[in-house]
Amino acid sequence: MVCTSRKHSKKRDAILGIIRSTSVHPSAHWVYERLRTSISGLSLATVYRNINLFRGEGLIKSVCVVDGEERFDGRIEPHLHFICTCCGGVFDLPYPDPLFKSFIDIEKMKGFTVDYRKTVFYGLCVHCTEK
Ligand SMILES: [Zn+2]
Ligand SMILES: [Zn+2]
Repeated sequence: MVCTSRKHSKKRDAILGIIRSTSVHPSAHWVYERLRTSISGLSLATVYRNINLFRGEGLIKSVCVVDGEERFDGRIEPHLHFICTCCGGVFDLPYPDPLFKSFIDIEKMKGFTVDYRKTVFYGLCVHCTEK
C-alpha cells in the first residue's frame, strides 16, 4: 500500500526546495527538467499545480514572463530584477527597492493598500555585454 499524501508532499517539498535554492528565477519547465529524473512519476502538470499553490500561499512570487514562460522567485522580500533581453536571464539586483516603502505610505493616504510592486530593468547581462 502506497501512502499517496506522503508522495505528494515529497514532490511538493522538492519543487519548493529547488525554487528556493536557485537564483535563476526558474520557469515551471526548468523545475520539471531538473526534477524529472530524481522524482519518478513527476509531470509538468504537477509542477504547475504546485507552483500555483505556492504562489497562492505566498511562498514564491511570479517575477515576469520571459520568452513566453513565466518565471518564479523563491525570494519573496521586495527586491529589484534585471532581465537580459539577449539570453533571457533574470537577475536579482543587489539593491533594495528604494520606492517600496514610500509607495505604501502614499497609497495608504488615498485609501489603497499596496501589497507589493515590481520593478524590472531590461538590458544586457554581463555575459551578453562581453560577447
Ligand atoms: Zn544575457
Ligand atoms: Zn529575485
